[in-house]
Amino acid sequence: MTPLHEQLAAGLLARAEQGLYRRREVLESPQGALVRRGGREFLNFCSNDYLGLANHPDVVQAFKRGVDHWGVGGGASHLVCGHTRAHHALEEELAAFVGRERALLFSTGYMANLGVITALLGRGDSVLEDRFNHASLVDGGRLSGARFSRYAHADPEALSAKSSGCDAGRTLVVSDGVFSMDGDLAPLPDLVRLARAGGAWLMVDDAHGLGVLGASGGGVLAHFGLSQDDVPVLVGTLGKAFGTFGAFVAGGDALIETLIQQARTYLYTTSLPPALAEATRAALQRVRGDGWRREKLHALVARFRAGAEALGLSVMPSATPIQPVLVGGNETAVQMSAKLAELGVWVTAIRPPTVPAGTARLRITLSAAHEEQHVDRLLEALAEVCAS
Ligand SMILES: *Cc1c(COP(=O)(O)O)cnc(C)c1O
Repeated sequence: MTPLHEQLAAGLLARAEQGLYRRREVLESPQGALVRRGGREFLNFCSNDYLGLANHPDVVQAFKRGVDHWGVGGGASHLVCGHTRAHHALEEELAAFVGRERALLFSTGYMANLGVITALLGRGDSVLEDRFNHASLVDGGRLSGARFSRYAHADPEALSAKSSGCDAGRTLVVSDGVFSMDGDLAPLPDLVRLARAGGAWLMVDDAHGLGVLGASGGGVLAHFGLSQDDVPVLVGTLGKAFGTFGAFVAGGDALIETLIQQARTYLYTTSLPPALAEATRAALQRVRGDGWRREKLHALVARFRAGAEALGLSVMPSATPIQPVLVGGNETAVQMSAKLAELGVWVTAIRPPTVPAGTARLRITLSAAHEEQHVDRLLEALAEVCAS
């Protein structure tokens, strides 16, 4: 057999030849509109810190006070002795925020999705997922052992056609609320109707809608006016608009109790640091109270779209802070990202398998931390890069 390192090196070379090699940039500053890397300042249009809370003084203070009170580590899993008053209070506040009976904290969104789907489904059940769902939802569906199928992106008719084959066992329909690489919304009222008609349950992962959509930041379900009855399983993440870290599942008492008993990514892992729960409680106050952050963000999105359309860029149909510019080729996207970096603007190129082949893009994300002049500088840089 070929030695390990030789075989891996050949694989890496093949990846590089396809323009698919991924590299990390080393950040030298906290998140914000302006960040430093390699000793240089960049305007940052790649983070998911949509409301500018990742380095907010109240959140930072709450984290520090939390560490003074609780120390650093959670010490054990929630069911052993790692579940503190800080975690418990955050769960109650999150449940109230999204208007559901209960919420349960998970260490990450990835783990929440794996845990929920594998706890609810097994062999003999079916899971139907939007083709553009986040990798963690796809992995959860596959790991569950249920019959796994994907329907065409945001297409209720395609879902309807796929659901006809699943009468035996449970059926779970799973969708992102806001699609992470496209920025568009799932057609949730249609999904609710179809799930009901087919006797299926609906699960929505609102990682990118929570805090951003809805008058008080309640997310995509608030945007569409959907209740716990309509969407019994809601997943939210805390590392995006909340600016901290972690995730939660919200829903009825029986769902949450089932997850406490059976979700393996809940049971077999250490609880989040309690100080992080305190920081997230402070972030939730800002998410709820600072309506101006959402208003500012939506105004910046409108400014960007108007400018991009005037430049003739292929912006995608998105009303959220995720504003991808479709490029197509992997190498072209990488080169455009590098040219933007030369101009002091940081936008990541997103390539397959994160997005379908031939749809590499510049994934621009806006934040309430940006100012109008930052958006204007982004547009000027895009104009220069696209002209060259
Ligand atoms: C980011 C993201 C996740 C993963 O959340 P983490 O807390 O970062 O693990 C899950 N689902 C979607 C749609 C996401 O965008």
